[in-house]
Amino acid sequence: MLDLHVHLLGHLDREVTRGNIRLFLDEAKKKNLVQIGFADHDMYWNDLNLDLIREVAEEYPELQVRIGLEVDYREENEELIRKRISSYPFDYTIGSVHEISGWFFDYPEEEEEHLRRDPDSLYLEYFALVEKAAASGMFQIIGHFDLIKLFKIRPRTDVRILAGRTLETIRKQGLAIEVNTNGRYKPVQEFYPEPKLLELIYQMGIPITLGSDAHEPSTVGRDLEEVVQQLKLFGVKEITGFAGQRPHALMFKNTLIGE
Ligand SMILES: [Zn+2]
Ligand SMILES: [Zn+2]
Repeated sequence: MLDLHVHLLGHLDREVTRGNIRLFLDEAKKKNLVQIGFADHDMYWNDLNLDLIREVAEEYPELQVRIGLEVDYREENEELIRKRISSYPFDYTIGSVHEISGWFFDYPEEEEEHLRRDPDSLYLEYFALVEKAAASGMFQIIGHFDLIKLFKIRPRTDVRILAGRTLETIRKQGLAIEVNTNGRYKPVQEFYPEPKLLELIYQMGIPITLGSDAHEPSTVGRDLEEVVQQLKLFGVKEITGFAGQRPHALMFKNTLIGE
């Protein structure tokens, strides 16, 4: 089990201190994680202290502690993003789309705007941006792949068709997609991506990784055990971890019924 989507800073709810880092790592141990990755939002770039994480990680030899970054992808920011990513030896970066032409669509107060728009065009616009993020070559993981569903508004067209081109680009670029359990705590009440997309992702041979999107220590690893059980039913045999921006496979342990 691993969790590569953890926000140490939350939404600037706390500072990077040894004590705070330990709270997250203690929880990771408690949840039996093999690998935990911190991926704070790039908008808090000036508040990061990645070296301190590496230092405290040495107190936890049983954990693979990784350092990533969740980037709020915007085409016009590509140059700045590239500069930041290359300025630190990140283990991985997550490309996430939270914004369509300046509209931060995932804020709770934005539900009405979602209802006003045509669902198919909304999904298409969103997936086109995810495709650009994937094609940019800056990321190893795509974050919360179908975030646009968060208010439970479904497209008329099969979402697998709307997401098709984007998935093809992700596959060609060799990116992984995370199963992000945080969607369960949004109005849509399901993980990202939804099961039929996840099955397609697996069938396409796209590597799968895991993230809780924890913004506080207690939610590290949340619901990931359940995801692992679901993935095993699809036939998934391994999960992808990262080190030095290279993927590596972590095999599921064989578990027999009754074991
Ligand atoms: Zn995000
Ligand atoms: Zn996040």
